[in-house]
Amino acid sequence: TDDFFKNIISHAKEYGFVFPSSEIYDGLSAVYDYGQLGSELKNNLKTYWWKSMVQLNENIVGIDAAIFMHPTTWKASGHVDGFNDPMIDNKDSKKRYRADQLIEDKIDRYEKDGKTDKAAQLQQDLDDALNADDLVRLKTIIEEHNIVCPISGTKNWTEVRQFNLMFDTQMGAMADGAEKVYLRPETAQGIFVNFLNVQKTGRMKIPFGIAQIGKAFRNEVIARQFIMRMREFEQMELQFFVRPGTEMEWYKKWKETRLKWHLALGADPAKYRYHDHAKLAHYANAAVDIEYEFPFGFKEVEGIHSRTDFDLKQHQEFSKKKMQYFDPEINQNYIPYVVETSIGLDRLFLTVLANSLVHEDLSSEEKQDSRVVLKFHPAIAPVKAAVLPLTKKDGLPEKAREIMAALKLDYNIQYDEKDAIGKRYRRQDAIGTPYCITVDHQSLEDNMVTIRHRDSMEQERVAITDLSRIIGERVSL
Ligand code: ATP
Repeated sequence: TDDFFKNIISHAKEYGFVFPSSEIYDGLSAVYDYGQLGSELKNNLKTYWWKSMVQLNENIVGIDAAIFMHPTTWKASGHVDGFNDPMIDNKDSKKRYRADQLIEDKIDRYEKDGKTDKAAQLQQDLDDALNADDLVRLKTIIEEHNIVCPISGTKNWTEVRQFNLMFDTQMGAMADGAEKVYLRPETAQGIFVNFLNVQKTGRMKIPFGIAQIGKAFRNEVIARQFIMRMREFEQMELQFFVRPGTEMEWYKKWKETRLKWHLALGADPAKYRYHDHAKLAHYANAAVDIEYEFPFGFKEVEGIHSRTDFDLKQHQEFSKKKMQYFDPEINQNYIPYVVETSIGLDRLFLTVLANSLVHEDLSSEEKQDSRVVLKFHPAIAPVKAAVLPLTKKDGLPEKAREIMAALKLDYNIQYDEKDAIGKRYRRQDAIGTPYCITVDHQSLEDNMVTIRHRDSMEQERVAITDLSRIIGERVSL
């Protein structure tokens, strides 16, 4: 696990994918910046999601709601009272932990030691305590299982307390009576409060969906595992509104659709699995996670939840505005049920890195050789092609520039003339560029270039006039 993170973090930093936030001040815990290639990759992931949701489905539209919302929103949604994690402090190290996570780690350890029965029993105890919101029981479990602080090694624990994950700040000047507002902990509520706006102005008929990509903020008790768990992150969420009674059908459909979407990015299907929730959130009547197998185990990347009419009903009650839909097919008014798909863009980014980064041994009888490659699906690769003049003279750079000019309107292309061609190939491999286009002396005569493929390292000779079409065919999903 440590090696995996070391590897990914240093590669992501070295090539401009992800930097620690405000690094010159030693960073800010669980906050990260995306660099020049990271933001390209992120944009490509967003586009892939947005197209497959909004563009391909006539009954799904997208919105972009504000991060700040009326504070009553979070009363209605249950976040003010219920969006908590159980927290515990070690009195010696003064370190804060999530009580449930400490217990989860113990379960992992039991499993590693082959104590499967003990692990299963502890999991059951943990689920029961969480379901009952029983903080005293959580503390007892920690004591009974001799769980020690990973830093101090002692069992000198405080009581378990609830810790609300929402960030808050003041809106307006103090003299006016400043109001406490929250940074949204999920994008979903921006969709619910706009349900009727969109339904009416878009003349949407149930079943229909509203999609959104945007930032969310959670004051996570512990920050760990790089961009897996951040305090500022991005979500891509769909709220799909359906007729009551049909929600399980749609839940099944979205569950399948979403897994296919992940697999289309080229990962080994064995690396993905569904994980049904034993503990349901206060708003859900069914919930499943799509998990990806990292070197440190299967972890949630996306959640699909049947949210019932909980949110719209709550907003109706708190706002006193009707949240009903008139269904002309059955001549009835009702509050729709909702099926949600919610994916963390940053976690998706991490799965894509984990799935793509390979160290390949290319040694032959003659020489030792290896390379580092990011084997991104071409559709999400930050740079689609690199144009490389074989030498810096004889008119080759000019020819290469002409090719660049023709391609860069449609694709993100890099130009590179520095160092030997082999070294340039390696640089492109390391950032996941699927195609290298080499311009040589012959090109000046026959208007043909060599395309070198990242994964196979094979080369083919093609006409310059065909380049755009060839790249276009290969970089779509
Ligand atoms: P976890 O159990 O890992 O805290 P969650 O079940 O609270 O996650 P949801 O509220 O279902 O997560 O959020 C939907 C998605 O948002 C998750 O599947 C995940 O990809 C992403 N997500 C949630 N919290 C974070 C975070 N702190 N950093 C990055 N992504 C996150």
